[in-house]
Amino acid sequence: MSAEPSEMEIEELLYAIGLRHRNGNRPLAPHGTTAAYERHLNHGDEPCEPCRQANNNLKRTQRDTAAPTPAKRGDIPHGTMRGYQRHQYRREQACEPCCKAMRAAGRARYQARKDRAL
Ligand SMILES: [Zn+2]
Ligand SMILES: [Zn+2]
Repeated sequence: MSAEPSEMEIEELLYAIGLRHRNGNRPLAPHGTTAAYERHLNHGDEPCEPCRQANNNLKRTQRDTAAPTPAKRGDIPHGTMRGYQRHQYRREQACEPCCKAMRAAGRARYQARKDRAL
């Protein structure tokens, strides 16, 4: 079986015979890099699988390292059991109105149990 020319070799050949023009004298980025991905796009090519992967990985890391959107304080119904649970869900100290609501709910439950026992 004869050795097939690799995609890189074919591409180098296209540049060598002048079918493609590289920007300046920069060496070609190997496939599987975002630089090669952009080269595909610049040439109007369908990006090859390794290049698509590289681009996807970059986008994923950019998304992962992006600062998390700050929690909006306004959407907690403060002074209610739900508000208290929202605080807990966010692993933060519940505010005073929410703590009060929590204690009131606890008292009400305790009272209800006592009433039933009687
Ligand atoms: Zn490629
Ligand atoms: Zn609160």
